[in-house]
Amino acid sequence: MSKDPFLRAHQIKENHYDIGSSKAPIAIRDQMFRGWTAVKRAFKLNIINKKRPLLVVGAGVGGVTAALTAAGLKIPTTIIEKSVPFGRQKGCSSRFICPTQYDWPLCHWRDTVFPWSSQIQLPLTYTADNGAELAKTWRRELQNALSKYKHLSMQYGTADNFMKNGHNLITYRYTDKSGQSHTQSPPVGMILSSKGFGIERTWFPTPDRATATFNGLAFWDVDSLKKPRAGCSSTGHKHVLIAGGGDGALQDYLRAICGKPASVIYDTILQATGSFFLDQEKRIQSKEDLAMRHWALNTKAQDPDLYQTLDDFYTDLVQAAFRNPHITQTLGRTLEQKIIKQTILSQQEATKLSVHLVYREPWFTRAYPLNRLLTLIVATYLKEAHQINTLFPNTTIHAINASRHQCDPDKPRACLDKKHEVSFITSEDELHGDLRGKPVYEVIVLRFGVESFSGEGAPEEQRQLLPYCLLP
Ligand SMILES: Cc1cc2nc3c(=O)[nH]c(=O)nc-3n(C[C@H](O)[C@H](O)[C@H](O)COP(=O)(O)OP(=O)(O)OC[C@H]3O[C@@H](n4cnc5c(N)ncnc54)[C@H](O)[C@@H]3O)c2cc1C
Repeated sequence: MSKDPFLRAHQIKENHYDIGSSKAPIAIRDQMFRGWTAVKRAFKLNIINKKRPLLVVGAGVGGVTAALTAAGLKIPTTIIEKSVPFGRQKGCSSRFICPTQYDWPLCHWRDTVFPWSSQIQLPLTYTADNGAELAKTWRRELQNALSKYKHLSMQYGTADNFMKNGHNLITYRYTDKSGQSHTQSPPVGMILSSKGFGIERTWFPTPDRATATFNGLAFWDVDSLKKPRAGCSSTGHKHVLIAGGGDGALQDYLRAICGKPASVIYDTILQATGSFFLDQEKRIQSKEDLAMRHWALNTKAQDPDLYQTLDDFYTDLVQAAFRNPHITQTLGRTLEQKIIKQTILSQQEATKLSVHLVYREPWFTRAYPLNRLLTLIVATYLKEAHQINTLFPNTTIHAINASRHQCDPDKPRACLDKKHEVSFITSEDELHGDLRGKPVYEVIVLRFGVESFSGEGAPEEQRQLLPYCLLP
């Protein structure tokens, strides 16, 4: 095993490291950071050098960051990609992402600058933007690097069959896109697998994709959720169902109800509420810090206590805001006029949009603090001021039945703006009135988490606390 603790945490065999699959957290910046650190550390330990090349499997942000860092150190480097570079984010213009937004309430969150420390120079630019624009920038940076470094190359195919070849070097076989197999020579000093987080569960019924009857859009697919009527074209009351209690579901809830990035929503709320939420930031940070430490040192079985504690804390905080008459008034006005879409508040059936977020547990699961807080503020306001229910805990989907069309799980886009009758089950005594009688939804978003790749020998799940930057 490697002497270096960072490398050891990612090592799956001698000279073979995996920064994808079963690791968490898996945000873009985490993957950039993993790729960069793995190469810097491997270089320091002479695992890679001019005579001991690097093979990177997967051209997402993690793999390309690793490859370009190595190329900058004059290490002969090959990237193997089975599809297209940055394929996840490519084309996704509907999702805004930011490297620091979800570090709120840490003091650097507003800087939107990554990496945090000026001592670290990452080869890919990451500034707040939508996924498609970022992917375009990264493709350009990859192209520039391929032109600049003669010792950097890219092959399209799938690498497998890694064989030890004396002198602590490895040869590998790769299958190109036409299905032809090649054995690579010269052999490499290090293999860095960066094949992504696995398969995102967007289908129903779970768990088996093969028997799914409905499939929704994936997190990085282009969608119209943030549009006034969630992209539905015809008139009539439209209904959006989002299922899942994690961060993907909360992001989509906020896009469907507010249509704005979380940082914009929060800034608007701050302008209206003066110091109320600002004064709570230190308490929130302290609670989140404790929660992160618990999460990293626990297993799934121990998570419920953690999520319940967080839920109690945030619920109390939001209730306290709405108990303050001055805050209620100014916050309410701001939410109505500047944050919540008019279609959510519309009294007209022809223009109205309803959004339901259903989740199995009584609490949200793993979510960034800002999304957790904003979701509770918006939902509490809609319920108390307008009797509009948007959150349905303890609830799961029982069946999804298409009306007047056939759902094809391989064509999730074809189901958008079409009617689906959905029935639900609750773990409480009674199903909420709004969900009884098989309500009809035109947009269904399923955020059921990810299924990790088995990852060549990687442990089932690896929870890590990644610092924002770690000196090489
Ligand atoms: C529901 C959800 C919500 C998310 N929310 C956010 C968010 O808000 N912000 C954020 O920053 N991140 C978010 N992420 C995470 C983000 O998608 C990942 O961090 C990022 O895409 C991972 O980059 P990567 O390079 O590790 O993998 P990927 O981008 O998946 O790239 C892996 C590459 O490897 C290639 N590949 C796979 N297998 C092979 C093989 N055998 N041979 C050759 N090539 C192969 C693939 O084709 C792909 O190009 C979210 C993810 C999910 C699922």
